[in-house]
Amino acid sequence: MRIHLSLPGFGLPRRQWFALIAATTLVAGTAPSVSQDQPRQVFSAGVARVDITPDYPIRLTGYAARKSPSEGVEQRLWAKALALRHQRSAPVLLLTVDTCGVPGGLVEEVARRLSDQAGLERDRLAVCASHTHSAPMLAGFAPNIFAEPVPADQADAIDRYTRWVTDQLERVGLAALRQLEPATVAWGLGQATFAANRRTAGGPVDHAVPVLCVRNAAGAVRAVLANYACHCTTLGAGMNRMCGDWAGYAQEQLEQTLPGATALISIGCGADANPNPRGGPDHGLALARQHGQALAAEVTRVSSGSLSELVAAPQARLRRVRLPFQAHFSRAQWQERATRPGIVGYHARRNLERLERGERLPETLPYVLQSWSFGDRLAMVFLAGEVVVDYALWMKAEFAADRLWITAYANDVPCYIPSRRILDEGGYEAEDSLWYYDRPQRLAPETETVLQDAVRRLLPRPYRAQL
Ligand SMILES: [Zn+2]
Repeated sequence: MRIHLSLPGFGLPRRQWFALIAATTLVAGTAPSVSQDQPRQVFSAGVARVDITPDYPIRLTGYAARKSPSEGVEQRLWAKALALRHQRSAPVLLLTVDTCGVPGGLVEEVARRLSDQAGLERDRLAVCASHTHSAPMLAGFAPNIFAEPVPADQADAIDRYTRWVTDQLERVGLAALRQLEPATVAWGLGQATFAANRRTAGGPVDHAVPVLCVRNAAGAVRAVLANYACHCTTLGAGMNRMCGDWAGYAQEQLEQTLPGATALISIGCGADANPNPRGGPDHGLALARQHGQALAAEVTRVSSGSLSELVAAPQARLRRVRLPFQAHFSRAQWQERATRPGIVGYHARRNLERLERGERLPETLPYVLQSWSFGDRLAMVFLAGEVVVDYALWMKAEFAADRLWITAYANDVPCYIPSRRILDEGGYEAEDSLWYYDRPQRLAPETETVLQDAVRRLLPRPYRAQL
């Protein structure tokens, strides 16, 4: 039988059109139609948190100058989890951790456990560090940070803490995955100005504050996730008490402003940005609170305004590439460096010992990148390491800046990731920092094109900027 189709209101009585539309909807299997201004609950969300503050003294990491175990707790440290499941796909799970960096090996162990216990695929897990410099060291992160061997009892505390945090990340991830409730998910972009380029006065920075807001069926905020490209270093090396720095205070303030909500903070390409101002006679505590409150105020403003609702199932991709190191030092160069004081000598002596044991030093650095794209409305990019701002600015020029969310310090923090410009200029992010991270050489200039090519293969076509 041929069906003659005509426009609604023309030819068929109204009741028959409603029947036809209902039948078509059923056949096509689409979601029930919802008014345009009503949020659509195509997502369910799970939110969980776990305290990761140890109750024993432990070396805090981030500053070479800090030489003794911690002296108590200024603010508690948290790992938090946000699981988002679209009705047509498996969940994605994002963890934020108040720590300087979660090493790749620990992330892969957590990923393996979550895969075993919840069937979570690797590309659907992202682990993001806040880069606070006032949290305990995790084994494997920046192993040369103190430029001297860590005494055995202190190393034992670090190993004990690392095992416990691994268990806690597994636990908080599973809790979020097992508490999924209907939710709406929407996002918006704000701006905060306390990040300043720390290499060049007035140099490039990324002041964007992307905000993801998750509401329950009643419209109450269950979780806010925000991201900002700035070091978590308002507190100086003189602070030897555990603290989340501005990211910790932003979370605390948001959870006071939005009762019942969990606040999660991740970090963008802020490797060459510091909070401004920082430090001071109280080691930076008042300023850390001030920056945290400034960020929280902006997140609150954005989340209560007009947001872009996410309706498409997240598409997850994860790529692993290898970033090239420069040509290694010769044996004679290593021997000369080994006589120098401080980190250069310590790093050289460690590597000479390896060479004397017959070990080969790596010529490339394993590097992980990930993206979650929600239709054409939002692409989240997760980059490992301390990534400098040039990569964010490049990405925002080549891709649709108003639909991008860029997180660094994600899934691994193997070292700084300098751009070609910064490698040419030299300095801490290009060179000295690599010795603290126990890498054999500077990264080669080709790093920039390897990383850019990987991002191009990662991001779906709708995010290409309209030129
Ligand atoms: Zn850093």
